[in-house]
Amino acid sequence: MTLSRARTREWRRLVAGAVLLGITGYLLGLTPWLLLAGACAYVTWHVYHVHRLARWLASGGREPEPDARGIWGQVFESLSRIHRQNRKRKKRLRKLVGRFQQAADAMPDGAIVLAGDGTILWMNEASSRLLGLQRSRDVGQPVSNFIRHPSFTDTLESGALDEPLHIESPLRDEIKLRIRIVPYGGSRRLMLVRDVTRIHNLEQMRKDFVANVSHELRSPLTVVAGYLETLEDDEQFPGEYRRPVAQMSQQASRMGLIVEDLLQLSRLEATPGAATAEPVAVVEMLDVIARDTRSLSEGAHRVVQEADPGLSLLGNWNELYSAFSNVAFNAVQHTHAGGTIRLGWTSDETGARLEVTDTGEGIEAHHLPRLTERFYRVDKARSHEMGGTGLGLAIVKHVLVRHDARFEIESRLGEGSRFSCRFPAHRVVRSEVPAEPERQAVG
Ligand code: ADP
Repeated sequence: MTLSRARTREWRRLVAGAVLLGITGYLLGLTPWLLLAGACAYVTWHVYHVHRLARWLASGGREPEPDARGIWGQVFESLSRIHRQNRKRKKRLRKLVGRFQQAADAMPDGAIVLAGDGTILWMNEASSRLLGLQRSRDVGQPVSNFIRHPSFTDTLESGALDEPLHIESPLRDEIKLRIRIVPYGGSRRLMLVRDVTRIHNLEQMRKDFVANVSHELRSPLTVVAGYLETLEDDEQFPGEYRRPVAQMSQQASRMGLIVEDLLQLSRLEATPGAATAEPVAVVEMLDVIARDTRSLSEGAHRVVQEADPGLSLLGNWNELYSAFSNVAFNAVQHTHAGGTIRLGWTSDETGARLEVTDTGEGIEAHHLPRLTERFYRVDKARSHEMGGTGLGLAIVKHVLVRHDARFEIESRLGEGSRFSCRFPAHRVVRSEVPAEPERQAVG
């Protein structure tokens, strides 16, 4: 029977009882007394069952369901059914959570749920293995108590979560971890931890290998190039061998340039992190670069300098010279005679930028994203012909990353290119210099 049918029945019983008592009372001349007695009995019956209900609820439904007749029987039965359903649902949920926990524990990566203030709310088994956390002890503690790496605490505080972090495990320095922090559900954050020791070691092996090979090749190459040069200069050297020797000498010096560029890249990679922050007078550096650019151009191009003398950079002179000169010398090589090359150094809303603009051959758009890859050239044969190593822009990119700068390339085929190095405000120093606000030089 349903509860609503039981309710209707109860009403009917109540009305029938009242009518019966009314008629009997009328016949006996005791109508009010009989009705009052009936009402009292009815209220007592309800109070008694309310009391039984309260006792049963207090037992948490553990005691057997009270036995009752009428509407109360139905109330007890309905409540008991709801209770049974809830128990089943709870059991199912507990099973589901257990299965979820098992799956999360089977994951090779660490997963930690953090509250908005960085407190650990939940973690899986791998987190213990990778970070040395203990579920029973550390849930409820701030995660920064266990990972004290400065870049991690900075990231956690600043909320700058775009890039993954690479840090050593607090357990052992040899374990290299990649940490990602993903915001979700309002202020909560999911922290994903991956062991990248193998990748890190392989990458280190690659770097060491390139650095060692380049280093080992350097001396024999110098010897070979030296002998070839001597042969080239030897007046008595048979004429038919002159051409092959000249070509060998040219290739040997190309190999020398490649080795030098590879060594430079290796040196940059060997000192990870930000470059030193000594004040660099970019205007003076641009004077040197403009002079070298003109000498490389041998008067074939107009080289224009537009620099703000009050702007200096905090960085490493040698690295910056190498980057800026690479871009400027490329402009000479890829701009036809009579073209213009502009070297600009100006401040902008986000910091300062060094720009090299040319009116040269330009580059097709699909090459642009790949130009800073090692050995990527638009025209391999031409690059060889011009003595390019294919490593110049890779070096530029590396240097700029070390200076927290961005490298942007804009180009139009047949119209020219613009290479911009954009430095953030914290790398820029403005001094009270200029008598002349902007220095311009054309040559
Ligand atoms: P490379 O030693 O070949 O110059 P880079 O890494 O310096 O190597 O440059 C990569 C490629 O980018 C070059 O081969 C060239 O095709 C293209 N490139 C670089 N600078 C310019 C420029 N100013 N104009 C047109 N193409 C350029």
